[in-house]
Amino acid sequence: MADRGRTSLNLREPGARWRSADQVHDLHEVGALNRRAFLARADHIRRRWPEGETAFITIGVERFSRIRGSIGYTLAESVISHLAARARKYFHGAPITRLGPDMVGLAMVKSPSVETWANQLQGLQNVLEQPILAEGAPIRVSVRIGYVTVTGGLSVAGGDLLNQAEIALDQARETSRLVQRFSPEQYGDPLGRLSLLTDLRDSLVRNELRLVYQPQVRCRSGEVVSAEALMRWEHPARGMVSPADFIPVAEETGMIGDLTLWAISQALRDLEIISASGRDMRIAVNFSGRLLSDQGFIELVRDRIRGRENQLTLEITESSEIEDWAIALKSLEAFAAAGMRISIDDYGSGLSSLAYVRQLPAHELKIDRMFVSQLTESYRDPLLVRSTIELGHALELEVVAEGIEDVETLALLSMMGCDMVQGYHLARPMKLDALLSYLEADRARDIIEAPMDMTRFWGVA
Ligand code: C2E
Ligand code: MG
Ligand code: MG
Repeated sequence: MADRGRTSLNLREPGARWRSADQVHDLHEVGALNRRAFLARADHIRRRWPEGETAFITIGVERFSRIRGSIGYTLAESVISHLAARARKYFHGAPITRLGPDMVGLAMVKSPSVETWANQLQGLQNVLEQPILAEGAPIRVSVRIGYVTVTGGLSVAGGDLLNQAEIALDQARETSRLVQRFSPEQYGDPLGRLSLLTDLRDSLVRNELRLVYQPQVRCRSGEVVSAEALMRWEHPARGMVSPADFIPVAEETGMIGDLTLWAISQALRDLEIISASGRDMRIAVNFSGRLLSDQGFIELVRDRIRGRENQLTLEITESSEIEDWAIALKSLEAFAAAGMRISIDDYGSGLSSLAYVRQLPAHELKIDRMFVSQLTESYRDPLLVRSTIELGHALELEVVAEGIEDVETLALLSMMGCDMVQGYHLARPMKLDALLSYLEADRARDIIEAPMDMTRFWGVA
């Protein structure tokens, strides 16, 4: 590979150094930049060599969560660092950034008309798959590479190009190619998800995400025991984007980790304000099942929450996406032992079934809205809901019903012994200051205690 140096412009900063690939332990030693600094550096390169062709390159390690599960977090991190060091060396000190637990990105410029990118990246792929000696143990990993190239000017934003390189990596995985150039045609984007994804990446930096809170109320007392944190995205052009639109995109593209960490941090900040107002309650944060098998992510969450577990509930959504049960159970048990409540969200919806109730160390079951919304009109739904409440209680779980839109449904759930309720009838999701006023006015107790006109319920005059 020694001759590759002559085919590429040398981007090393004067005085910049990086260590030999076999000495690194973490990414800082490799000189990895955060995303923002990386993009600034890439812009600088493109400005400096406008006639050159720049590639944004993503390198993804295959089955990384399994590798991490078997060799442990520290060693797995050291593998990523070794790979990053090799890639950086191969590209003579090109800027590098971490894009996800199993992914790094590089920006590299080369002179026109030299070796093709495809050849050069196949060479890189080869180099990366040579055994790594991490802590004395030889480890071999498979990698895939995605890339996109651009020439001249800065008309396309670096952030967009990096996103496209990430999509190219997804395409490589989907098509079982080792190296894949981003292909917009192949990508096909009927739903505008590419631009949604690009915007979503920026939403955190631009501070466009918000949390709204929906009270969860104890049926017997009307006490607000917790509030569910629901994410909202105030997009400058699209207006308010529903989580139903962006959470699935985030889940499919790995962004969900960043969004969830943001939500947890924001919820903890808001809890301080709630505590300062003299209230003692939890916030329930939605937590996608697929994140539970990601040990590195769980460590980040643990660090972020440490000591405040008893203020949070994790509502596990999409339990069907749990990839590695051993890691998921270990993570949840550790959280629960520290005082966190675990809730199985959307119970009964198909994504969340009896198998999860059996396996997850949960404290509560949240009956999916679809069984609650027609409770007073349907023959079967009350049977299903009542037996779910009984099942939950037999397993010593509290049962929460969501989607309560009228007083009749509230009364029926109360009669069935449901422990907690949440829904528009009690309160719509609201901003923190509105939640504080709601708590102050004791609105939930008024609603729970309001006498109900039973003739409406039973349909008699
Ligand atoms: P979910 O966790 O089941 O949240 C309950 C959803 O039901 C919320 O929708 C809430 O606004 C809505 N809802 C509550 N009460 C009623 C009612 O009485 N009637 C009706 N028709 N709807 C009601 P939202 O806010 O649109 O969120 C949709 C889903 O997006 C959530 O479902 C959750 O799965 C996901 N989500 C929202 N925020 C986050 C988040 O921060 N992280 C993750 N991973 N997922 C989130
Ligand atoms: Mg939820
Ligand atoms: Mg739900």
